[in-house]
Amino acid sequence: MEFAKERAELVARLKVHGISEKVLNSMLNVPRHLFVPAVHISSAYVDTPLNIGYGQTISAPHMVAIMCNLLDLQEGHKVLEIGAGSGYNAAVMAEVIGNTGTVYSTERIPELVKSSKSNLKAAGYRNVKVNLSDGSIGLPEHAPYDRICVTASAPSIPEPLVQQLRSGGRMVIPVGEMFQSLYLVMKKSDGTVVSKEWGGVVFVPLIGRHGFHFESKPYRHH
Ligand code: SAM
Repeated sequence: MEFAKERAELVARLKVHGISEKVLNSMLNVPRHLFVPAVHISSAYVDTPLNIGYGQTISAPHMVAIMCNLLDLQEGHKVLEIGAGSGYNAAVMAEVIGNTGTVYSTERIPELVKSSKSNLKAAGYRNVKVNLSDGSIGLPEHAPYDRICVTASAPSIPEPLVQQLRSGGRMVIPVGEMFQSLYLVMKKSDGTVVSKEWGGVVFVPLIGRHGFHFESKPYRHH
């Protein structure tokens, strides 16, 4: 497979973050170079976020690994992602949950819905469905979800997402504007909700009804 050596070296370096074998093996199978714009292909296996156009980014591989690890994804899960972007994080989650699971991903930028769908198709992921919608209100038609992964930073934890999480489910979400923290939100079997702060992160803003209300800066290609 193309870039196999670069991908293996990148995944080996992610071990320092205490990532499970299941997530590492899944990342070994996902061709990240198919999810980055052609101009960045030589940096596809550098552990860094990259511009994907429209002021948005594909998250750094270590961040994808940390989020998937916190989610504790299992075979057959139904997962909601907010912010499809390039489709890469959805592909990694789809690898972990296997063919019996489904990832529903939402994206607010029509061009990114189109490109994430074509990236996912090129990489062979059929169990990811990308929707053009405001993910800050969730995706009620397929709720409840076993896991929810929010890949843009929210002003606070959106109530519709908590409601759409199954009892026993987990959500990861960055919260904050200038200073952001990643939270792991767990809904216990009796419906009570517990959240734990993981640590500081940097994400683009979640824009929408339960997100921030400003527009992100227009993307300029250098
Ligand atoms: N998961 C992506 C990947 O693997 O490439 C990275 C996503 S990028 C850090 C965050 C994405 O969230 C952007 O594509 C942005 O357009 C999207 N976004 C922001 N607010 C949103 C909303 N309310 N609903 C859906 N997508 C949103």
